[in-house]
Amino acid sequence: MIVILKPGTLPEKKEHLISWLESQKLTVHISDGEDYTVLGLVGDTGHIDVELLQSLDIVNSVKTVSEPFKQCNRKFRPDDTVVSVGGAKIGGGNFSIMAGPCSVESLDQILSVAQSVKEAGANILRGGAFKPRTSPYAFQGLKGEGLALLKEAKKATGLPIVSEIMNVNTLDLFEDVDIIQVGARNCQNFDLLQELGHLRKPILLKRGPANSLKELLMSAEYIMAGGNEDVILCERGIRTFETATRNTLDLSAVPALRDLTHLPIVIDPSHATGNSRFVPSMALAAAAAGADGLMIEVHNDPMHALCDGAQSLTPDEFSALAKKIAAVRQAVLA
Ligand code: PEP
Ligand code: MN
Repeated sequence: MIVILKPGTLPEKKEHLISWLESQKLTVHISDGEDYTVLGLVGDTGHIDVELLQSLDIVNSVKTVSEPFKQCNRKFRPDDTVVSVGGAKIGGGNFSIMAGPCSVESLDQILSVAQSVKEAGANILRGGAFKPRTSPYAFQGLKGEGLALLKEAKKATGLPIVSEIMNVNTLDLFEDVDIIQVGARNCQNFDLLQELGHLRKPILLKRGPANSLKELLMSAEYIMAGGNEDVILCERGIRTFETATRNTLDLSAVPALRDLTHLPIVIDPSHATGNSRFVPSMALAAAAAGADGLMIEVHNDPMHALCDGAQSLTPDEFSALAKKIAAVRQAVLA
């Protein structure tokens, strides 16, 4: 349920109503917009007398939120969420580029890629340490050591870092990781999502290849229900009958999610296409469609990458793309 207060409501009257709602065992999320204040109520609202609420002189209207996702619902919080991390901002008109290798492979590799993506304009460094691979015989990532190397690159460049967690038992290792990624395969690992909800750290939640947008939002809700409001959604391609690309990039997720939620929306054209030749056009399309950011795989030597070389841009290709992304954003915002 949401309660929209009239413009100019006196703070003491607002506080009085909030205290009363809290005494009814409801959690109240307050969204102060330019004109209206929206109170989002979480909990069992069945016993609340809607007509009584509506009759209060400070109340403009009362609406029930019929969707099962509440806290990530745009009705609940009309203004865009802006996630701030180490100087980078994502959402509400702030655009971020997360770039780096699929996997951290060595100190030289991660330092070299980190320097080049920073120079090209990326403001967040990505690097996988725990890798969810289809084959148990494939490179599984450097794990704890990979995270340690990623932190070295953070120290050297000042870029905040994002890396994927697969198992909640490794959470301690992520203390200095600025954004924790939940990969596509774990989009509905509800135990993991619930644990991450107890953190106060941004979570990049990737859409599972077979998940609807509503399921993605329910997964975000799992994190937010624990009190962690900094969730970034990431579309990275879904499974369809098409085989020309690794997955099918659902770019319409950008406007569709924009309507449904206030959370920032990032596009990953690397895992979506699986082909470095297709990454630039999809990245530009995502920027034009109004995404809040991109996640792009970049490797200093894609031919010898231990994971996802085929979809990785070289630093030069990334640099050329970053300039075009800036130009597209300029053109679209103009
Ligand atoms: C990744 O970003 O390294 C990754 C494994 O992506 P996804 O979960 O989208 O497959
Ligand atoms: Mn990858």
